Amino acid sequence: MAKMIEISAAEYERLQDCIREDGMRIAALIEENKALHQDARRLPAVDAAPMTHAKWLLRHVGHGHYWECSHCHQNPCIYVTEDTKFCPNCGAKMDGEEKNE
Ligand SMILES: [Zn+2]
Repeated sequence: MAKMIEISAAEYERLQDCIREDGMRIAALIEENKALHQDARRLPAVDAAPMTHAKWLLRHVGHGHYWECSHCHQNPCIYVTEDTKFCPNCGAKMDGEEKNE
């Protein structure tokens, strides 16, 4: 059920001013938002880094062995195994194919 209140002409004017100010603030925010969207559209597009594919090569040295990346030819660290998915040195994906995308 709606309730009516009685306000003076001065109070009514202040209320109208508040409503106008809020409206102007909202309009300013909308304009600012549009400007931000336009700025974002002007930013240059960046190509994602191409994915390099490689494989682990088993290398023997003395009585031991290590895994070498077929792309950067490094033995990145002692924790690399043939199941390590990416080369920690160059980031190549170890899926057995030697190619660049
Ligand atoms: Zn590598």
